[in-house]
Amino acid sequence: MTGRRETLRRLTVCSVFAALLSVTAPLTIPAGPIPITLAVFFLFLCGGLLGPVDGLIALAVYVALGAVGVPVFSGFQGGYSVLIGPTGGFLFGYFPLVLLSGLGRNRPRLRPLFFLCGLFACYLFGAAWFGLVTGNHPLAVLKLAVLPFLLPDAGKLVAACLTIPPLRAALRRVGYPGDKTRKDLSRRMDTRESICYNTSVNTDGKENTEMNDTEKRTVPGLISDLLAYGERTGLCSPLDRVFLSNQLADKLAVTFDGGLPEPRDAKLPEILAGLCDHAVEAGLIPADTVTYRDLFDTALMGILTPRPSEVIARFKSLAAKDPAKATDWFYKLSCDANYIRRDRIKRDLRWTVDSRYGEIELSINLSKPEKDPKAIAAAKLLPQSGYPKCLLCHENEGYAGNEAKPARENLRQIPFDMDGCRWYLQYSPYVYYNEHCIALSEKHEPMKIDRSTFAKLLGFVSRFPHYFIGSNADLPIVGGSILSHDHMQGGRHVFPMERAKIVCPVTFPGFDSVKCGVVDWPLSVLRLRSSDKDAMIELADRVLTAWRAYSDPARTIFAETDGEPHNTITPIARMRDGEYELDLVLRNNLTTPEHPLGLYHPHKELHHVKKENIGLIEVMGLAVLPARLKQEMAQTAEAILSGADLRADPVLEKHADWVDELRAKYAFTKENVNEILFREIGAVFVRVLEDAGVYRATDDGRAGFLRFLSTLDGRAE
Ligand SMILES: [Zn+2]
Repeated sequence: MTGRRETLRRLTVCSVFAALLSVTAPLTIPAGPIPITLAVFFLFLCGGLLGPVDGLIALAVYVALGAVGVPVFSGFQGGYSVLIGPTGGFLFGYFPLVLLSGLGRNRPRLRPLFFLCGLFACYLFGAAWFGLVTGNHPLAVLKLAVLPFLLPDAGKLVAACLTIPPLRAALRRVGYPGDKTRKDLSRRMDTRESICYNTSVNTDGKENTEMNDTEKRTVPGLISDLLAYGERTGLCSPLDRVFLSNQLADKLAVTFDGGLPEPRDAKLPEILAGLCDHAVEAGLIPADTVTYRDLFDTALMGILTPRPSEVIARFKSLAAKDPAKATDWFYKLSCDANYIRRDRIKRDLRWTVDSRYGEIELSINLSKPEKDPKAIAAAKLLPQSGYPKCLLCHENEGYAGNEAKPARENLRQIPFDMDGCRWYLQYSPYVYYNEHCIALSEKHEPMKIDRSTFAKLLGFVSRFPHYFIGSNADLPIVGGSILSHDHMQGGRHVFPMERAKIVCPVTFPGFDSVKCGVVDWPLSVLRLRSSDKDAMIELADRVLTAWRAYSDPARTIFAETDGEPHNTITPIARMRDGEYELDLVLRNNLTTPEHPLGLYHPHKELHHVKKENIGLIEVMGLAVLPARLKQEMAQTAEAILSGADLRADPVLEKHADWVDELRAKYAFTKENVNEILFREIGAVFVRVLEDAGVYRATDDGRAGFLRFLSTLDGRAE
């Protein structure tokens, strides 16, 4: 926006407010010598919406109109005689009222307080003047000029606070320059006066980005905001302020001359964006891309994040009383430290669909940033480094990262014992579900499912009974994306599989204390339940050992081909009603000429939706679908409505057969097309899970499952 247009818009808005005051202030409700008017409500709006400068201009225009005789004062009076009359003090008191209301403009939480102070100042002026002119006793002044107005003015104050946020949004839409876009500002700012916007959180938690061109935010200002954020969230203490501000200043290559400015109630992503903008301009980072900005702001957050020993001590002291309190605190810390980027997680798409197996959950993960080409090119030039060996190694804690590896200065891990070995607990930065945690071995050793895995899983849920935990299988195709480092994933979420019921109870001789059964689920799940941990571990180990060696050629199940093993298990443990529950999901990674990617893997006709491995999270009924689908579904919807040929589009071509089926089944409209597509993606995902099942969830499939269990003398009840 050019300067002249900006000034014009400001003047227009000031005139509108002066006119509003002129029209509403004369209307009165009689209440003794001083009538009640609506003026105070509009004065709050003047300050609260326009700020101190524009608000005072609007007020001055209104008072000037009245002074020259226009009947705009209460009761349609006008002329300078009103100004010097008994109620004239209130008209002068309007100025501090608007000034103070305006100063609270960018502090939504403190807005009522600023209004109250303004009102108090107005009363003070008005009452003192009234007393002087009329010669009344102060008590009489109070009775006549203050008390009758307290209740109506309180009502106006509340009404103004409620109407300001929507009115403010409306002013922003008409381009009122009190509110700037970041682009406008970054064009204007110079390198030292880095950035000048302010984001604040309303009391209702809604984001409220409010710009103020009169108060530029400098780098020290942003540092002050960041420290205030750290203290507010408990990441750091006011006792650390000088220490941390020096560290941040060094990282940002700035010096303070006059100490830190007063902090503002700003949101973290905005503070970090401002500091990254500074880093770009000051040449502290090589390029203005997501990769470099992430590396830089993680380093800043690492300065604020408490040391591992402090985090561990706090976690252990909380866990001694209540493990859920400890994980609640640790999860919050991981979010507050921006290791979990809450603002990005919000972008993910999540929905559910009904199926014959119950409600199935789906998600399209959009929070993982894509690597930018500059970073990819720079990563190629980096010397090959084996440190940290992988993304799950303990050595990532505090690691600065580079173009090829993420920064982890703000990652914290809690060490704990798993079946006699040291493991660490941390959260997943991409939280696919609530409190998605990762337990990882101290050693960089390959995934391995064995007896010890079951002991670890049950040990974990004894320690954290409010969390489930599971392990990916230990073979390619049916395993997760990282097979090189032994780890498990858990969290506080009830997955669709957990809700599925046992459809066929099974007993194993010698294991009377363990209730077992086949679960009604598209994959092949044997569920064990008992309060006897040792008996469960023993039985689970026997099932695993038997399955590893089991072949059923008639059903194309082979324990091995050419010496390569194919059978394994995806195990998941939880506590249910005070008992251990262990789900053993039978997996097989055989490939055939017809299914080169895997026989028990999504088949070719489903690859347009899901081609990747079916790991632990999906086994349990939560689809993690590729980010490309969002864009492709939007384009597919367009093509369906316009009747375009999907086969002519190289990207959408893969969805063509599926869309032909849908076209035969539905009458698409603009209103229903998206809902149908997303529901049908759910239907495809159910088929994906069925493909991954070694035995079909049918009577015939179950007969095959029971045949395997009979090798352990397991019998259907
Ligand atoms: Zn590792």
